[in-house]
Amino acid sequence: MTNLDRQMDQQGYVVGIPESFDISDHSVEASLCDNYACEICGQIGLSYRQFVEHSQQTFRAFAECPNCGWAEEL
Ligand SMILES: [Zn+2]
Repeated sequence: MTNLDRQMDQQGYVVGIPESFDISDHSVEASLCDNYACEICGQIGLSYRQFVEHSQQTFRAFAECPNCGWAEEL
C-alpha cells in the first residue's frame, strides 16, 4: 500500500471507478501519465491511479510515481 492508497483509504476511497463510469473518457489521462515526470525523483512514466467513493459515486484520479510514491491529482 502506497502513501496515496493510505490517504485515499482514510477519506473513504477504494481503488476503482464508479459503476456508471465510461473508461474511454479517461484513456487520454492514462496515456499522458506514461510521459509525466516525477517532481521529486525525476522518474519518467507515472502510474495512473483511479479511486472511487461508492456512497457518493465520487471519482478521483492521480498520477503516482512508482519509484518514490509522489502523487499529483489529475
Ligand atoms: Zn518519484
